[in-house]
Amino acid sequence: MTFTYADILLPLAQETFTFRIGDSLRASITEGRCVKAPFGQNKFYTGIVWRLHNEEPPFKTIKSVETFVENAPTLTPVQMRFWEWIARYYMCTLGEVMRAALPSALKPEGFSAEEFSREVFRPRTVEYITLHPEIDSLDKLNEQLEILARRARKQYDALLSFVSQVPEEELFPTKRSPFPGGVLRTRLAIDSSLLRALEKKHILRIETQELSSGELPPLPTSLPKLTESQGQAIDAIHRLFHTHDTVLLHGVTGSGKTEIYIRLIDEQLREGRNVLYLLPEIAMTAQLVERIKSYFGERVIVYHSRFTDRARVENYLRADRSRGGELILGVRSALFLPPGPLGLVIVDEEHDTSYKQTDTAPRYHARDCAVVLARMAGAKALLGSATPSIESYVNAQEGKYGLTTLNERYGGATLPQIILSDTLRAVQRGERTIHFNKILIEKLTDVLAAGEQAILFQNRRGFSPYVECSHCGWTASCPHCNVTLTLHKAIHQLRCHYCGYSMTSPTICPSCGQQSIEPRGFGTEKVEEEILRLFPTARVARLDRDTMQSPRVFHGIVASFARRETDILVGTQLVTKGFDFEGVSLVAILNADNLLNYPDFRAAERAFQLMTQVAGRAGRRQIQGEVIIQTSQPQHPLLQQVANGDYMAMLRSQLAERKAFFYPPYCRLISILLRHKDKALLWRAANRLGDDLHTIFGQRLLGPQPPPVDRIREEYLLTFLLKVERNRSFIQAKKLLAETIAKLHATAGFSSVTVVCNVDPQ
Ligand code: ADP
Ligand code: ZN
Ligand code: ZN
Repeated sequence: MTFTYADILLPLAQETFTFRIGDSLRASITEGRCVKAPFGQNKFYTGIVWRLHNEEPPFKTIKSVETFVENAPTLTPVQMRFWEWIARYYMCTLGEVMRAALPSALKPEGFSAEEFSREVFRPRTVEYITLHPEIDSLDKLNEQLEILARRARKQYDALLSFVSQVPEEELFPTKRSPFPGGVLRTRLAIDSSLLRALEKKHILRIETQELSSGELPPLPTSLPKLTESQGQAIDAIHRLFHTHDTVLLHGVTGSGKTEIYIRLIDEQLREGRNVLYLLPEIAMTAQLVERIKSYFGERVIVYHSRFTDRARVENYLRADRSRGGELILGVRSALFLPPGPLGLVIVDEEHDTSYKQTDTAPRYHARDCAVVLARMAGAKALLGSATPSIESYVNAQEGKYGLTTLNERYGGATLPQIILSDTLRAVQRGERTIHFNKILIEKLTDVLAAGEQAILFQNRRGFSPYVECSHCGWTASCPHCNVTLTLHKAIHQLRCHYCGYSMTSPTICPSCGQQSIEPRGFGTEKVEEEILRLFPTARVARLDRDTMQSPRVFHGIVASFARRETDILVGTQLVTKGFDFEGVSLVAILNADNLLNYPDFRAAERAFQLMTQVAGRAGRRQIQGEVIIQTSQPQHPLLQQVANGDYMAMLRSQLAERKAFFYPPYCRLISILLRHKDKALLWRAANRLGDDLHTIFGQRLLGPQPPPVDRIREEYLLTFLLKVERNRSFIQAKKLLAETIAKLHATAGFSSVTVVCNVDPQ
């Protein structure tokens, strides 16, 4: 059957557009293919053929598509269904899904078809390390080793570790079977700079070999040996996959969940299936990626936000060509890579909030999407966490997901002992120095004396959250947002953490003219400064979004902490995940109060997750770690639950509250945000929308209400929250909501009000 028309998806915030199919394409066009679509004045877009049909459109002029985009990927039916599901579920257009799903270079505006030519796709290569041909005997090798042993100890170690991995009969070029010989570079844990140095000295050689498509590098010959309880967890996962599509792995910090993932990945790759492995946006991604690569090497297709667009295109196309046996590893957007013959999806740290995209449409939750994608692709999904989200845990309790638990830390390490330290009592007894209770200072002293390491957690970056005039009460706030500016002392700046605005920190109060500006509260920068004052000889470093700006600086800080050249690391959330350092015996949460008092129904759950994860950084090997939580509310039930490591108690009490106040998982939420520069107009629009929505939804609608920060980048904000019972049709509710918003936008004067729906807000 041939078709005359095609509905084509363009990377615009729209649904599809109808085109005529040019004669040259008619015979070969299929749904999912990329075409060069003319749109607007002499502009071309990459379009995806979404539907072929013969229904004549009601408009007179209709453009036609004449060429395919060569070498561009073709969307599979699974991908197309998945995109459609995302658009419907998260209330956005298909075009917005396309924008998020394809790297920019694959969905260009005014881009010629030629640029999709083969050169975008570089053939895959593997690197092998071999001895340099000049080192052709044991004598010569020993000679080099001796020289290095005296002059370059690190190069010596590197060379030795290489030699130990190659059987002697393959070591020397003359005896070596022709290329490839040596060791896969990814199997060698040698720093690139050391490799290059050894290459320069004509000791080692890096040889690159092309991999023709379809030919995959070998799978690992050895995998981590699992402990008994890890083995049991794997058996349980296998068993549960017979009856469930999704399994939740609840394993305490340090229990070796990654080891379990590695096993499961290996099994799938051996069967010729792909695995999609999602990670949260964590500072330590690079370290984890290296760890996974040391097993699966060139079979790993990495995808994350730090990549250049070109690298993303390359990896997208690699995934698109995959015929199975490969691992796609990345952050939430890796969800959109062509999954190929997918066998398993792993969502690591499934509770992590970075899985939810909130700033731009589609406002999707990658964990939930991963479960849907797996189902569509006929694959299984494994969600892992030490502190599962309440939603996932309830899904497991209700039998929707399978559940398996791992309570033991690897290597007999015990969970850290958690001490709740009362800040008010410390003040009363004169046992508090600035922000540190006496017990914390004593423990820090011990740690330093023993040559161990400590992590101090403070969930605010900068020096202090705000500055205030102690004379007249003036505070510095952002001119564009309704929020106080944060002092960054080292650079003498006040900064807005919402819009990026910054100004030089004043020394004289602009309101009363007195020299009485003082910092209030405290951030990581201030903690660092005070620690240095208390422990002048300690080696202290700081890790937060400010120091993260440069990946090189960041890796330097992490590497030096790993080498134990830093004693105390001060940081924000960034220090909570993937940090696995032997030397850490003390972790302190400097101010638990601001985690507890956050006005959100998920605050307690998040606080539990965060504190448990931070605590989990302590005492990973032989030493039992200690965790000190400073708080003015040591009796707070949530802190007791954290101290007892009692996830189930946290779950019970939170579920009771959520039931009483009707919050997820007992209902589903959609938040509706309205934005406009004109405050009065915004209120009028919100009241109008509110009236209409109240007529439909009654008590299920809350608002309009200004959010905690009610002005950002010159725009005023108002929010609604819609609660939908779980037994009601969510689809119907969204449809009614969308219609009501459309009606508002059709009303004179209100078309300029931005309305954003966020389904399942986090
Ligand atoms: P989790 O992700 O559960 O917090 P990890 O997977 O990071 O734990 O494991 C914690 C540490 O224990 C890591 O350093 C890991 O290499 C080590 N480990 C866990 N299981 C094993 C194993 N079976 N063999 C060797 N090392 C292991
Ligand atoms: Zn003043
Ligand atoms: Zn601002």
